[in-house]
Amino acid sequence: MLPKIHIIATGGTIAGKSSEKGYVAGKTSIEEILSAVPELKEIARLDFEQFCNIGSQDMDETIWLALSKRVDSLLLSEEYDGVVITHGTDTMEETACFLNWTIHSAKPVVLVGSMRPSDALDADGPANLLVAVRGAADVKNAGKEVLLCLGKKLLESSEAFKKDSHEIDALGCVPPDFRAPHGKNFGFDIRNENVLPRVGIVYGYGGASTIPLQAFMDAGYDGVVLAGVGGGNFYSPVQRLAEKAVRMGMLIVRSTRCPYGGVYTLGGEVDDLKLGFVAAGSLNPQKARVLLMLALTETRDVEKIRLKFQGVN
Ligand code: ASP
Repeated sequence: MLPKIHIIATGGTIAGKSSEKGYVAGKTSIEEILSAVPELKEIARLDFEQFCNIGSQDMDETIWLALSKRVDSLLLSEEYDGVVITHGTDTMEETACFLNWTIHSAKPVVLVGSMRPSDALDADGPANLLVAVRGAADVKNAGKEVLLCLGKKLLESSEAFKKDSHEIDALGCVPPDFRAPHGKNFGFDIRNENVLPRVGIVYGYGGASTIPLQAFMDAGYDGVVLAGVGGGNFYSPVQRLAEKAVRMGMLIVRSTRCPYGGVYTLGGEVDDLKLGFVAAGSLNPQKARVLLMLALTETRDVEKIRLKFQGVN
């Protein structure tokens, strides 16, 4: 018997329709998308649901929590062998990491998107969907992380990031410090969580303003990821304010606006151990934010949070 795969549709360009000025994401229903790829029936038995229909720029913590709980309960049932989630590419890496770190089953989960809308002559969604369903139906993917599918390729959530805002092959790959296949030995139980700790991102640049970090502090945020320059460095006034934020109980994670290379405590210019910062390692700011939100559901202890950023529970 063919494997049974559940498809959860959330929107994105793969569900996009052309408009006068360009296109609008999240317009086509999952029925319509699937009817364009009849070959899927030869790979798996499918059922599907329209979870939401949005551009992934509108993904948020509320949807992540609901989506994670839904995927978790589907995969814990005997009925399904894997899940495919149609999703916009803009924030796909964040959703993938969130799911990867919160799902309790090891069965394959694949997020799939496209760079051209569903009604484009050269739409890339159908071919990506085939690769995604094949990936979710393949037991060899059971021991892997949540996968992302674009450009007819599958990448794991710790390594994948959106590198190109236009090209078909829009996902890049960063060597991760740790992989954490879902359902194995790293992760968080959010099944009883209804809201997540509040974590913002502050972008670094020469002469950076302290206003964004101060605003997060004034609003009582639990943590901030600094998307620093180079190896996680900051314009001095921002760093001094971050030191004050730590003294006031905020968790500060240093990441970098550089796509490659990461941020580490050893060998850098900032003394994390003295100042109470956490280094993000290979995680980019948006992934580090997801991990910090999840870590803060368990602890505010900086040493324990440092371990989470090394893939240790
Ligand atoms: N804005 C779209 C989205 O992320 C872009 C895409 O899907 O490629 O939903």
